[in-house]
Amino acid sequence: MNSIQKLTEYFSEFPGIGPRQARRFVYFLLTRNPEYLQQMTRLIIDLKKDIKICSYCFRFYQDQYTENSLCDICRNPNRDHSMLMIVSRDVDLENIEKTRSFAGLYFVLGGAVPILEKNPESRIRQRELLNTFKTRVDSGELKALNATAEGENTMDYIENILKPQALEQSIKISHLGRGISTGTEIEYSDSDTIKNALNNRK
Ligand SMILES: [Zn+2]
Repeated sequence: MNSIQKLTEYFSEFPGIGPRQARRFVYFLLTRNPEYLQQMTRLIIDLKKDIKICSYCFRFYQDQYTENSLCDICRNPNRDHSMLMIVSRDVDLENIEKTRSFAGLYFVLGGAVPILEKNPESRIRQRELLNTFKTRVDSGELKALNATAEGENTMDYIENILKPQALEQSIKISHLGRGISTGTEIEYSDSDTIKNALNNRK
């Protein structure tokens, strides 16, 4: 296997990228000058060093102060710490943040549970979610975002897991996502659609 084929295999593993697009990326890189490639390579090598994972919401964040284990959102005293929104991925969180219509905290599941999945706990941060739920959420409201069909299944799954604990702690669980049509990635939903979904929760 030559370098073009090897690199194509790497890019093919990226979310939403097929082998043809992957190959186009490789040929694009071949047209760049060596400085460009060096800079890009350095960024990739340093990515894991510069980016940390928040010990509460599990989102990726950049922080030069090594003593912090919480991200800027979780550390912010002006945010509503009685509201927790559960989202599938970091991009979902970023898109909701952009709308500035949610002032609570988040939990990033790190994935979704496909319909008929035999090992749902291997797809999402289930243990961490239960832990966060027991230790950090003592009252208030929990929001679950289901922007896709897969997301809907995920949210039904986690609602079942959290229900007994929620009852015990008198926490209300609400579903979001009406207004964001099923099958539409929240990533591609515009600000107004996300705002509507946040306001029209059941
Ligand atoms: Zn955080």
